[in-house]
Amino acid sequence: MKTLESRIGALKTKFDESLAGATDAGALEELRNEFLSRKRGRVTLLFEELKSLPPEEKRSFGRLVNELKAHVQKNLAVSLKGSIRIKSGAKGKLTVIEDDADRDQVDLTLPGETLPWGAPHPVMLFLEEIERIFETMGFSVAEGPEIETDYYNFEALNFPPHHPARDDWDTLYLGENLLLRTHTSPMQVRVMEKHKPPIRIIVPGKVYRREAIDPTHLPMFYQVEGLLVDEGVTFAHLKGTLDLFLKRLLGDKIGTRFRPSFFPFTEPSAEVDISCLICSGRDQACPVCGGTGWKELLGAGMINPQVLKNVNIDPERYSGWAFGLGIERAAMFCYQIADMRTFYENDLRFTRQFFLK
Ligand SMILES: [Zn+2]
Repeated sequence: MKTLESRIGALKTKFDESLAGATDAGALEELRNEFLSRKRGRVTLLFEELKSLPPEEKRSFGRLVNELKAHVQKNLAVSLKGSIRIKSGAKGKLTVIEDDADRDQVDLTLPGETLPWGAPHPVMLFLEEIERIFETMGFSVAEGPEIETDYYNFEALNFPPHHPARDDWDTLYLGENLLLRTHTSPMQVRVMEKHKPPIRIIVPGKVYRREAIDPTHLPMFYQVEGLLVDEGVTFAHLKGTLDLFLKRLLGDKIGTRFRPSFFPFTEPSAEVDISCLICSGRDQACPVCGGTGWKELLGAGMINPQVLKNVNIDPERYSGWAFGLGIERAAMFCYQIADMRTFYENDLRFTRQFFLK
């Protein structure tokens, strides 16, 4: 028994050495014949020997021979995998074919893997809806840089240096002259510099402020800017357009209210409120409107003549209006979301549930 064991061990060593020295498919075929040939293969002959052994030795000896056979087959296949493999032909000969060793292991009856469906982010959904509404009114969509110069973000919009209104738009500065834009309004200037009226655009994009983070403030949020410049444009056009836009976005029942306000780049300026969808002003404890019946949504106004002069548009001939809307704020109102931070916490349970009809 011990002799047989050592013989098998020696055969295994011999096979391993020969395999290490086999460099091409021909050498591998030769090696296979030497060990597995049906008539004179070394493993085949061991199985012949097995037949003549006494029954008590047959079992342990058989196991060793089978292990050797498996070792030879496995290592021959592994050495060929990657570029070619050996397949037994009809006559017991080896043929080398292109590698498709894995094909035999694919069970085509198994069900496929289900890939999870994604969903648009609620802010993107809202933005797309806003773009769609303005496109039907003849507006184009423009985009601009998030890193701006002081000139475009402030000066050209009638914020001189040291103007106190700059405090409300404080931001992150990148060196002396560059900053993260605090609103999408710099694109008003960039567009009016390049295009002559009539101009009708909206500008969606990210803006940045130096804000302490709380449920209604983030240092980064989305805004959409609207700009219209033409001859004979009045505040009535602004009211009519915004009223129609908000009704299309939030529903026909929405009422709008304009309150006087101040922005350096518009004159006159207004805050635009929408009527509270939750209580319609009937609940003194309404968490959305605080019982007033109104919710502030955006800022707007007629373009300050000085801004038109800055871009060489004659304010005697042309007039225009602009507005800026915070997307998250509008989406919070529409979807009844209490905390703005939930938009950016990447909780899929939150972001997957929004589908605008
Ligand atoms: Zn309310």
